[in-house]
Amino acid sequence: MKNIFEVICKKCKGKCCKTVTFLSQDDLQRLKKCKDLFAQEKKFIHKKHSNYFLVLSDGKCPFLDLNSGCKLNKECRPLECLLFPIVFMSENNSIKFLLNKKCPYLKEISKKWVAKTSKWAENRLKYWSREEIDSFSKIIRDHPKSHLHVL
Ligand code: SF4
Ligand code: SF4
Repeated sequence: MKNIFEVICKKCKGKCCKTVTFLSQDDLQRLKKCKDLFAQEKKFIHKKHSNYFLVLSDGKCPFLDLNSGCKLNKECRPLECLLFPIVFMSENNSIKFLLNKKCPYLKEISKKWVAKTSKWAENRLKYWSREEIDSFSKIIRDHPKSHLHVL
C-alpha cells in the first residue's frame, strides 16, 4: 500500500518545504549523513543567535525537488520535516503535540499515524537539548492559534 504522504505531498508540491526549517544539533548530524547533498547545500544553513536554520533558496527548501519531493532520504531528514504536519512544544516540562492546519491534506492523515509518530518523536527529542526544545517551542507558540489544532 502506498504511504499517504507519497500521494498528498505530490499533490501539494511541498507546501511545508517552502518555509524555514529548524535544525537541532542532532538534525545537523543527520543531514551530514547525506554527504554530497549536504556539501552542495550547506550554504543554506544559517545560525541565528544559538540556533541553526535551513533557509530557502528561490522560495523553497534547497533539498526540495518540485517534481519528486524531498531529495534527502529519511535518515538525513530533519525532525521537523519527518513530523510535519505534527508540531510540538514544551509546556510545563512535558511535550505537547499539535497539528498544523496549514497542511492542505490534514484530513487524509490517519489518527493512527499521528499517535504513532508523536510517540516516536518523544524518543527522538531525547537527542535535543533543553535549549533547542525551548527555542522550537517558542516558534510554535508564536504561530497564530488558528493554524494549530491541539491533539
Ligand atoms: S503541507 Fe502536508 S501535504 Fe503538503 S508537503 Fe507538507 S505534509 Fe505533505
Ligand atoms: S529537508 Fe526535505 S522535507 Fe525538509 S523542508 Fe527540505 S525538502 Fe522539505
